[in-house]
Amino acid sequence: MPEAILIVGGGVAGISAALNAADYGSKVYLLDDTASIGGMMARLDKTFPTNDCSICIESPLMYEADNHPNIEILTNTEIRRVNKTNSTFTVRLVKKAKYIDEEKCTGCGACVEACPASVPDELDGKIGGMRKLISMAFPQAVPSVSVVDPRCRYGKMREQHACIGECVVDCSQCRECPIALCVKACKEEGKDAVVLWQADKRIDIEVKSIIVATGIRPAEPDTGLYGYDIFENVITNIQFERLMNAGGPTGGQIIRPSDKNHVKKIAWIQCVGRGLKEGLPYCSKVCCMIAAKQTIITKEHDRSVETVIFHNDLKAYGKGFWEFYRKALQSGVRYIKGRPFDVFEDPGTKNLTVRYEDLDTGEIQEEEVELLVLSMGLVPNDRNKRLAKVLGIELNEHGFFREKGTLLAPLETSVEGIYLCGGATGPIDISESVIQASAASLKAVLK
Ligand SMILES: Cc1cc2nc3c(=O)[nH]c(=O)nc-3n(C[C@H](O)[C@H](O)[C@H](O)COP(=O)(O)OP(=O)(O)OC[C@H]3O[C@@H](n4cnc5c(N)ncnc54)[C@H](O)[C@@H]3O)c2cc1C
Repeated sequence: MPEAILIVGGGVAGISAALNAADYGSKVYLLDDTASIGGMMARLDKTFPTNDCSICIESPLMYEADNHPNIEILTNTEIRRVNKTNSTFTVRLVKKAKYIDEEKCTGCGACVEACPASVPDELDGKIGGMRKLISMAFPQAVPSVSVVDPRCRYGKMREQHACIGECVVDCSQCRECPIALCVKACKEEGKDAVVLWQADKRIDIEVKSIIVATGIRPAEPDTGLYGYDIFENVITNIQFERLMNAGGPTGGQIIRPSDKNHVKKIAWIQCVGRGLKEGLPYCSKVCCMIAAKQTIITKEHDRSVETVIFHNDLKAYGKGFWEFYRKALQSGVRYIKGRPFDVFEDPGTKNLTVRYEDLDTGEIQEEEVELLVLSMGLVPNDRNKRLAKVLGIELNEHGFFREKGTLLAPLETSVEGIYLCGGATGPIDISESVIQASAASLKAVLK
């Protein structure tokens, strides 16, 4: 039986599981289908309930995983096929080309600087975040290498002024590129790491167990919900998180999209979409603490900013969470037990008026704010369906992975040797993800 284990998903849960299993002596393949490990935590500003800087506490773990002799990190890699015979899983992986020689690239950024074309960033695009056609996922990415946008190679980005201009040769047919500015810049640095003709690579491995740690993603509001996508100054909680973040598109300035002015009054609407026909039928557990955190940090940026949270219920289920809510109250946030039902914009100022039913008095009230944040719930990863099929395990009615037994086998699946942890099991915070990762890694190692 092979001694190795495979972890699918390199967020905080996957990284923690990998470090535990590797410390027990197992060979670990840590796989992520994006360009870097880190997951959602790498994109957050601070983390409740301690308000530690998120990347400052995650990046040492990422670095440790990268340098652990028992861990092999495979980014940009997907699982294609899994066969189980006796106690061995034979797994076919495909490592999608980054068009970079990862051995040679040092992440110096010369190629990124040389690239003339920018496109909206996948995460921050709606709040003005741009990235180059060759870029790093984020400054602390692991592995610390650039990735070329595949559209660049086929001439699809000409209108965005990609440097290959009129070239019509398929990059996979060349072994040298005299045009691409990123290639030239890298050569000037003496590295020659940009390989535009690189192909996807097939990798076959054998493992004794698999941990699924594919995480969560924030739900996206429907267009028009509380004015989202219609009024510029209506954004979601992940977009607000990126606004607060010094590594985000505004360098941590809490400015509003319409006029880039610093905001003086902000409201959060909790449980957005909950109870609606297309909305989430479950509570995501963490949104109340996310809103509390975001108000506390806003006040730390500028004490004079007014913050209002419209809520119905309040969830403070974890260790230190109630105290964290009290801290938000002490910092001056106004909690209104109210149900907002309409938002309209002043076309001149672009301010927003929230109409709501005050649930304590039953009266209809209004509140005018400069920026409105929609607290969205957490939904399953969009790749779960495909992965469940490949692994032969089930999803629950919401699209998270189904646990074998809620009470006595919560991290197990219907296939012996495949375990779960973190957001793969449902909405979750960081500390709970890490606890689950410890348990899942022990099961995987002892199998
Ligand atoms: C706006 C916001 C603020 C938050 N703030 C806090 C906070 O302050 N404190 C706190 O405790 N929690 C917070 N959370 C929750 C926190 O982000 C999660 O608890 C945590 O990210 C879960 O970690 P994870 O590793 O399970 O999943 P993720 O962080 O989602 O990582 C999953 C990884 O798996 C990869 N992956 C997915 N599918 C596949 C696949 N098929 N193949 C290969 N790789 C795959 C993804 O690319 C990703 O890298 C916040 C969440 C949001 C949205």
